Amino acid sequence: TYIVNDNCIACKYTDCVEVCPVDCFYEGENMLVIHPDECIDCGVCEPECPAEAILPDTEPDTEKWVEFNRKYSEMW
Ligand code: SF4
Repeated sequence: TYIVNDNCIACKYTDCVEVCPVDCFYEGENMLVIHPDECIDCGVCEPECPAEAILPDTEPDTEKWVEFNRKYSEMW
């Protein structure tokens, strides 16, 4: 899965949401999140993010962000 981290806070762009083929972005409290079970790992959102807030969970130190993204994407 891909995750959104706190670089997203205060970013006003939603280019990532528009390119996602499975619509797995959700609104968190002050940032967007990705539903980790719905993301198909296509990677098209990553280069669209001007804040460099989107990373694959294969990057180091992303475990807490996977849980954070899950928590806020399942609130809806
Ligand atoms: Fe959507 Fe693909 Fe990004 Fe996952 S990697 S959030 S499926 S655009």
